[in-house]
Amino acid sequence: MNLIQNIKDKKILELIQEANQITLTKHGNNITLERAIFLSWWCDKGDCSFCYMSSQKPLIRDPKKARRRVEAILAEAEMVRRMGWNIEFLSGGYGAFTTSEIKNIATEIHQITANPVWLNVGITSELTAYGGEVIGITGAVEVANPELHRKICPSKPLDDINAMLTEAGELGFKKAITIILGLGETPEDMQYLWEIIDHQGIDRVIFYSLNPHPDTPYADTPQPASLYYAGVVAATRIKFPKLEIITGTWVDNLANIGPLILAGSNGITKFPLFKMFGTRYGRRVEEEVHWAGRKLMGTFTDPACLEGESPRDGLEPFLKRYIKSCLNNKTEYKV
Ligand code: SF4
Repeated sequence: MNLIQNIKDKKILELIQEANQITLTKHGNNITLERAIFLSWWCDKGDCSFCYMSSQKPLIRDPKKARRRVEAILAEAEMVRRMGWNIEFLSGGYGAFTTSEIKNIATEIHQITANPVWLNVGITSELTAYGGEVIGITGAVEVANPELHRKICPSKPLDDINAMLTEAGELGFKKAITIILGLGETPEDMQYLWEIIDHQGIDRVIFYSLNPHPDTPYADTPQPASLYYAGVVAATRIKFPKLEIITGTWVDNLANIGPLILAGSNGITKFPLFKMFGTRYGRRVEEEVHWAGRKLMGTFTDPACLEGESPRDGLEPFLKRYIKSCLNNKTEYKV
């Protein structure tokens, strides 16, 4: 099957049908809920043209103030554990936390969830600092076409991301990449993405669709079509049957979830967790998974999961705040 030609010919249903069979055979029936935990709202690079942080950089005078409290980060990890979600990765802009600070946070989260964490903390030459608290390293590729990449992400060169991923593999870490669809790529550009997956032996790809932020050049750009998104995911699943695929869907695009699952997604992400929990939007996510014929791991709606013992001192005020936010959602979340 010529996968790129099939995307171009819009034979999306054929791609999805084959991808679904492969996914069920190789991965089974479960769908995970994934939560990226952010460390800060600051990025020293701040020049990726689609990124929210690029619009915030000029507004933040003191980067230290854009760091989250460590207790808030750990409390969020505990809430994610209680809800049965996975931590997609720890994510932070460049320059907000030092490597040893990130390692300490990862170590505490490992203790809370009993799972080592994925990192997505930028290009670093300090991977040797990490150990058993980290399972894998994420390269934020975003767009795999080298020419587009140079324009869209001028300060994080693909060569440097590749070098980091190579080192990550040599040190025994798993490898992931993030890809954003809708930044101007074409179906032909899938060849670049698949080359990276193949060449690097990538274990996990996280696809997002463009979320056009005000004050960026993409403010008026439409998000990619749902069937294009599903076609790209399905073609990637067919090409790489064992790959773990996570797909991101913002709250204004929940109808994408069912097709993305049939296209080969193992997990779904990119939700405003505490705002959506228990609302009809959270229930909609569960319905999408149900009607894709899959079993959802964790919950977006069950308040019984929220209470529990704090895993360590100092987290209680933050846990209470998150639980309150979840329980206050009885009015509907506004998009
Ligand atoms: S490096 Fe990451 S956080 Fe920083 S501007 Fe680029 S995409 Fe945004």
